[in-house]
Amino acid sequence: MNKLLIFIASLIMAGSISAQTMQQSAELQRSALVVQDNTKADVQKEVDIKMYPVLWHQTSAEYRALCYQAFNVAKTYLETLIPNREQNEKFAIITDLDETIIDNSYLEAKEIKNGVEYSSQGWKDWVNMSAATGVPGAVEFLQWAASRNITIFYISNRSVSDVKPTLENLIKLQLPNADEEHMLFLSSESTKEPRRQIVAKDYKIVMLMGDNLNDFSNLFEKKSIDDRKTETDKVRDEWGKKFIVLPNAIYGEWENAFYNYKRNLTPKEKETIRKDLLKGY
Ligand SMILES: [Mg+2]
Repeated sequence: MNKLLIFIASLIMAGSISAQTMQQSAELQRSALVVQDNTKADVQKEVDIKMYPVLWHQTSAEYRALCYQAFNVAKTYLETLIPNREQNEKFAIITDLDETIIDNSYLEAKEIKNGVEYSSQGWKDWVNMSAATGVPGAVEFLQWAASRNITIFYISNRSVSDVKPTLENLIKLQLPNADEEHMLFLSSESTKEPRRQIVAKDYKIVMLMGDNLNDFSNLFEKKSIDDRKTETDKVRDEWGKKFIVLPNAIYGEWENAFYNYKRNLTPKEKETIRKDLLKGY
């Protein structure tokens, strides 16, 4: 009898423990779902902050006009140099590719629509499509420069493994000097300075073009917000002459600078930093 009672009691206890465990586990699952939802919402919010700059880039005629302005100024400046070129002097333009000559805003647009963050795989998939379009005025400008016997070098921080699909993209756009010899892509270090020096060995670099200050000089690299401005001021006479800047409000070192070049910040940490940086009155 005792044994039977103990057995029944153990059954009841087992049942209640199991019910309790099940309840706890359901709660855990629910809280896990809430955390997941928050994270997803945070990611979506973080991705959504790119919506305005992407829309500006893709829809505003002002963006288009700024690009034309940059290439018109570039042409005017080169026209002042060409008549004074010494015999046998080889002129070169060093240009960045992404958001300087070719437009990748379609990737950010897709990320916003799908609520997914930038990933190296997403980037690779996009690059492999060779589908970037020309920045307004870029192809015509570089074709004109090439017709004046100026050699174009594409110094990009796309990976060397991206050369093939990128080359296909450049050929599709009918860009001059579209061949591997003129594409100096990222292999070991992100600074572009050593690659600029390679070009400088054989050419007079008459112009640098980019959407990012690191496309012009290593003096801008990994600098604070204030120091980037100070360095910009130091060479203020070069802008619109040797240095031609293209507008990119979607991403860039300007953005990395406000996070102090830290990686892996959470969306909430990023938001706090951004709000602290805003100057109100
Ligand atoms: Mg760029």
